[in-house]
Amino acid sequence: MRKKIVAGNWKMNLDYSAGLSLFSEVLNMAKDEIRGDQKLVVCPPSPYLYSLSQMAGQTTNVSIGAQNSHQAEAGAYTGEISASMVKSVGAEYVILGHSERRQYFGETNELLAEKTRAAIKAGLKPIFCIGETLEERNGNTHFDVIKRQLSEGVFELGVGDFSTIVLAYEPVWAIGTGVTASPEQAQEIHAFIRKEIEARYGDAVAEDTTILYGGSCNPKNAAELFSQADIDGGLIGGASLKSRDFLDIAK
Ligand code: PGA
Repeated sequence: MRKKIVAGNWKMNLDYSAGLSLFSEVLNMAKDEIRGDQKLVVCPPSPYLYSLSQMAGQTTNVSIGAQNSHQAEAGAYTGEISASMVKSVGAEYVILGHSERRQYFGETNELLAEKTRAAIKAGLKPIFCIGETLEERNGNTHFDVIKRQLSEGVFELGVGDFSTIVLAYEPVWAIGTGVTASPEQAQEIHAFIRKEIEARYGDAVAEDTTILYGGSCNPKNAAELFSQADIDGGLIGGASLKSRDFLDIAK
């Protein structure tokens, strides 16, 4: 049975004390509201990772993730943070390949393959994001784009390593825009992704891979999106900054 996950990507928002307050609300609500087969992952800005993981302690259904990590193990890379550093402060996950990283920081599939390998080697579980732009969808190349992001980004991994990954389908045109993919549009791509995984790794791995949807998820549209056969939860941006909305989406 694949895991149901709702992950919150705070991006570059909230100062330290606001972040701590939000996380303590999330922890409190999760105690009563999150079932044993579900997991919340909270991805704060890196300077808050240690505090949040201390606060989470032994809580099993709330984990911490980083929003990025570097491909090198260590060295002269001023300003960067390695995967093992992220791991050492208590994070379990790392978001890789977010469209904002691809767009503003020039991250390519090739670089992301390196980052993914480094993260897995350090013991982190990547939440690997893929998704097409509006232009690509309108030009009817979205399936090709997704296929390439998978084959160049993660499909060179051996089966054991690939099994640590969570995938997130995030159509770029739906991120932070208030325009959500329809449940049918999202399901169509999720089913396609699962088929690609099956072709590369076989049926059992495809069945076990958690595939999240992201892009303007909110408490109103989450239930219908997440009830689709191949959608196993969500990667939430804006709505993860409010504890009630985040938990309502998860529920
Ligand atoms: P959004 O962001 O929920 O604000 O659209 C999603 C994401 O970027 O992961």
